[in-house]
Amino acid sequence: THVVCQPCFGCKYTDCVVVCPVECFYEGDKILYIHPEECIDCEACVPECPVEAIFHEDNVPEEWQGFIELNAEMAPQC
Ligand code: SF4
Repeated sequence: THVVCQPCFGCKYTDCVVVCPVECFYEGDKILYIHPEECIDCEACVPECPVEAIFHEDNVPEEWQGFIELNAEMAPQC
C-alpha cells in the first residue's frame, strides 16, 4: 500500500484523489488517508502530490513510520 504522511497536514490538495483508479483516498479532518486494503500500488498519486506526502509503505521515512498505522486505522473510519 501507499501511505499519506506528515506534509499532507494543512494541504489536502486532492490532486492525488482524482487520479486514483480505485478511489481509495479518504478525507480526514486535516489530512487525507489511503485505505491499505484498497490501494493497488499503481503509483499514479505519487507525482501528483505537490508536497511529496505519499510514499510506498516500504519507503516511508523513519520519522513518519507511524503514518502507516494511522492511515490503516483512520481510512476505514472516514
Ligand atoms: Fe490510489 Fe494508486 Fe495511489 Fe494507491 S498508489 S492510493 S491505488 S493512486
